Amino acid sequence: MNSSNRLGSGLMLQLLMLTALGITSSQGLSEEYLKDIKADQVAEQASGSYNYDQQGNDWEGTCQDGQQQSPVSLTSSAAIVTAIPRIYFYNYDQNLESPLILTNNGNTANMVLPPTQNGQRAYINGGLLPGTFEAQSVHFHWGSASSKGSEHTINSERYDVEMHIVHKNIRYQTVSEASAYADGLAVLGVMFRAVNRIFSLHSGLIRIFNQLPQIVEYESSTEVTGRLTVQQLLGNIKTGEFYSYNGSLTTPDCAESVTWTVFKDVVDLPERQIMKLWELKDSRSQPLTNNYRTLQDINDRPVYYTAQ
Ligand SMILES: [Zn+2]
Repeated sequence: MNSSNRLGSGLMLQLLMLTALGITSSQGLSEEYLKDIKADQVAEQASGSYNYDQQGNDWEGTCQDGQQQSPVSLTSSAAIVTAIPRIYFYNYDQNLESPLILTNNGNTANMVLPPTQNGQRAYINGGLLPGTFEAQSVHFHWGSASSKGSEHTINSERYDVEMHIVHKNIRYQTVSEASAYADGLAVLGVMFRAVNRIFSLHSGLIRIFNQLPQIVEYESSTEVTGRLTVQQLLGNIKTGEFYSYNGSLTTPDCAESVTWTVFKDVVDLPERQIMKLWELKDSRSQPLTNNYRTLQDINDRPVYYTAQ
């Protein structure tokens, strides 16, 4: 009996992918974290190959015929301004239990988040969230040397980079399962602006960006070492001001399972850090730039805005 029979083809595939990413359990990563990274890879593969040649206009299925798609244009004039609860963050200030694995999956720079050192995950509730949502992964959308690349626009302004912190409703076991339900996922959107400064106060983000040159190639991974909290990803933005609406994943299969919370405040990052994103390559060894989806019709969906 050969090893692929003994392990079963699914597990074998997963092990091969991990090997391809140079990840082994000898690096002090927990079994749970490795399992989550594998699940994330399997979900990424299941979404099929796609690219940003037409900013998503050629994607099919729900991406083409969905009526609650993302991203959308967010404007203070069209939003319903109302007092909604703030977003409450739990364990966001706790150190993560292990180094992060940062991966170029051909579409973005992605990090699956491990639990924190207290054994729990970072999680959120409040806002318009239909439940409690655990932080699962973080990725970015960006432009190029000559274009900005946020997905949402705020008052018609497109920012240089948009970071997505993907959370899953604790009602569901996996992100894949959650994406089949309207209340399955919650994504926090954070805008980054390139500024002409050398230094940044956002040491956690800088440590992540400093590793980007290690993942230029498709399917390469690296570790982000040192103490890191999910809070550090938010820079020092005011989290009391945000837009919220019901939408979708902005990548295939564009599942309409996301409660979006997009913060109005912006993280300033040195341009020399943001430039590192433009160096990444996709699965065709082409520059991975402008990996944002075109704006989608709002179709009478309410967009809420709160400032507190
Ligand atoms: Zn995204």
